[in-house]
Amino acid sequence: MRGNMGKVLIVDLSTGAMEEKAVPEKLYEEFLGGVGVATRLLADMIPAGADPLGPENVLAFMSGLLTGTGSMMTGRWMVCCKSPLTGGWGDANCGGTFSPEIKRCGWDGILFRGVSPKPVTFIADEDGPRLIDASALWGLDAIESEDSVRAAWTGKKKPAIATIGPAAEKLSLISGISNDGGRYAARSGVGAVMGSKRLKALALAGSKPIPCADPARVKEISKAFAEKVTKIKIPGVMTGAFMPMMGRMLGMKTVVPVDGILASAILKKWGTIYNNTAGMVNGDSPVRNYEGSVKDFGARSYRRFNPDAIVARETKKYHCYSCVIGCGGICDAAGTGAKGEHMHKPEYETCCAFGSLLLNDDLDTVFLCNDICNRSGLDTISAGTVVAFALECYERGILTKADTDGLELRWGDGKAIAALLSMIAERRGIGDALADGVALAARRIGKGAEKVAVHAGGQEPGMHDGRMDPMMAVSFAADPTPGRHTISAGVYYNVSHLWEFVSWAPPVTRPYSKSREYVPSDEEARKSVAGACVKQLLDATGGCLFALTTGLQHWRLFDWMNAATGEDRTPDEWMKAGRRIQTARAAFGAREKAADAGKEYARDYPLAHPRMYGEPPLERGPLAGKTVPLQAMVGMYRKAFGWDERSGSPLPETLKELGVPI
Ligand code: SF4
Repeated sequence: MRGNMGKVLIVDLSTGAMEEKAVPEKLYEEFLGGVGVATRLLADMIPAGADPLGPENVLAFMSGLLTGTGSMMTGRWMVCCKSPLTGGWGDANCGGTFSPEIKRCGWDGILFRGVSPKPVTFIADEDGPRLIDASALWGLDAIESEDSVRAAWTGKKKPAIATIGPAAEKLSLISGISNDGGRYAARSGVGAVMGSKRLKALALAGSKPIPCADPARVKEISKAFAEKVTKIKIPGVMTGAFMPMMGRMLGMKTVVPVDGILASAILKKWGTIYNNTAGMVNGDSPVRNYEGSVKDFGARSYRRFNPDAIVARETKKYHCYSCVIGCGGICDAAGTGAKGEHMHKPEYETCCAFGSLLLNDDLDTVFLCNDICNRSGLDTISAGTVVAFALECYERGILTKADTDGLELRWGDGKAIAALLSMIAERRGIGDALADGVALAARRIGKGAEKVAVHAGGQEPGMHDGRMDPMMAVSFAADPTPGRHTISAGVYYNVSHLWEFVSWAPPVTRPYSKSREYVPSDEEARKSVAGACVKQLLDATGGCLFALTTGLQHWRLFDWMNAATGEDRTPDEWMKAGRRIQTARAAFGAREKAADAGKEYARDYPLAHPRMYGEPPLERGPLAGKTVPLQAMVGMYRKAFGWDERSGSPLPETLKELGVPI
């Protein structure tokens, strides 16, 4: 299958040995690339029951099937491993410029096994792959580390660099991997796995051509998409102050079909922070550790998160490789207490995790926390949720000043929030107990702390409230990487126009009552499954979720896949590969859960914290009275996938049908 490089590089960090491995054509045909191919390679390479922070775990940096073929918004890279946070399949993905460089170096993925005796940097350039001593980098923050690798670079071509910060070196299970000075593959605890291997950084500068079956056709599709995105503009009157009104429209009792291409203009202007205030008024943004609502945060507070106020600090726009939208930005950090002069614009997730979730309305604190996380390497979603957990523990007397080295933990106290975050990043004092996420922190602290530890299957959920989007709630609970907000959700599905291409995807062509989404049904389950399958296609190809939300009638994923690979498959056939990949992720998790039983690193957590699905329902705010019948919906979702309804393990007949040999 064209589009792929045909091989991966396997690096044994214990011995320094490196081996190129050809990937069988059949594996590409069935699992495509990226996360898909990684599910097969890692299931074979990682022995069942391996310690996720031990030498047997494998950390795979994967590029996408479409990356570098000339298709658009397909430049994301994926990191895969056994997750030390959830115990199951772990993956995280990230934009930036790193992904095409993996392929230009000649591989579809670089897989690390073993543990290096000393810190190392992996380098691949015109002189080939090698490991060099990184002892001098160990302890540097992620941005300093990237700058140091770049400063020492003597090759002709500038490298793309991925690196970890001190939190990952200290094996924080909520740490990620950075590239481009603070863009993160943050989830699943991938940073801790890299830290456990003493792999400080990767620097890649390749020049190999990336194969594409029909470059002219790919270019033609790209041109049509780029023209549409370039043309779409939002009216000048639509300022940040308008966003709460848009949020109200999105939170209406009737769901109206809309064209997602409009979102590209909004993302171009603000990036994800457009949702800062929109998400507050419709209930999408969690408040006060999921126990509050906009009524507790108040209009005065949330208006401080007006996206215009953040964009006013933007000094430069930023976009990932092959992106025509460019939702990112570099901001002036002056006056925020941040270490450097600039930082990546805080994403919506960060603004919410260090904003309404903590009842904090001080934007400077959000910038500072963004900087602390980006430098130390913490996942902002998990870190904010851990701080919320600690604040609530303190309020309830579960933690006291004696536990916090005298730090008073009060809702909305920016100084205390930043101070606690630094303790977590450094594993100092109470920060040591909190640095591995809320689930483990609750076990360590005891005294009923698990009642306020909001997580799904061990991972802190993205900053979108499942009580507003039941499909998101199902995804939080039932995805093989639980707690992920980027898998399947009503807000994505309804603009994807998947039903125009996939025969079994339920259509959303007429207005319908939002209340329908709260009733378990085959149709809702099929929407969840379709959303999860297409997301696996994104993670196999390197596609961006925001591209999907422009709608597949514009961002023509299936056409690109045929043109780049030389295949002639229907969308249904491509989606079958998505179903296969999602099932392989689930099968890996089921295998590890069984094999880890009784081990110290076994992670056996409930599906989701009851607050996440409205048990008990909120008493006020836009989500008052809302409860998602999660167990029933999860059961139907699993059944529709051909997995066991209770355990989530794929059924033997499903594995056989899809050719997943676990
Ligand atoms: S929309 Fe944003 S995240 Fe997606 S590819 Fe473009 S810049 Fe990257």
